[in-house]
Amino acid sequence: MKSKIPKSESKWKTCLSPEEYHILREKGTEQAFTGKYYKNNEKGVYVCTGCGAKLFSSDTKYDSGTGWPSFWKPVSKDSVVTKSDNSFFKPRTEVLCKRCDGHLGHVFDDGPKPTGKRFCINSAALHFKEKRNSK
Ligand code: FE
Repeated sequence: MKSKIPKSESKWKTCLSPEEYHILREKGTEQAFTGKYYKNNEKGVYVCTGCGAKLFSSDTKYDSGTGWPSFWKPVSKDSVVTKSDNSFFKPRTEVLCKRCDGHLGHVFDDGPKPTGKRFCINSAALHFKEKRNSK
C-alpha cells in the first residue's frame, strides 16, 4: 500500500528524535514502564508523532498493567491498519498509522469489553493533545 505521506527515510530522520525514528520507521519497541503516556489519565486525543493523524482517544485508554499505553479501540477504523508480524517467536498483529505507515505497536485479543482488543502502543509513537474545556 502506498503511503499517503511519501517521505524518504532520511527525511524522517530529520523530523523525528532517534527514539521516535527507531519505533515508527524501524518497528522498534520502547521499554515497558519508560514511556511518557502509560500512566497518563488526562482527557484528550493521541495523535501520531510522525504525521499528526488522530489515532486514539483517552476515552478508550485503560491500564493494562503492561507498561505501555493501551487502548481498546482506535479513534476510527480508518486511522490505523493492522498487519501480521512474524518477526517474534510468536506471531503478532502489528498496528500502523494508516496515513504515514508508521509503526505504532501491536494489537492483542486480551483487551476489555466491548471490543476485547488491546492496542498496545509505544508512547514515542504518540503525541497527546489535552482536551480543553473552552470552545
Ligand atoms: Fe502517522
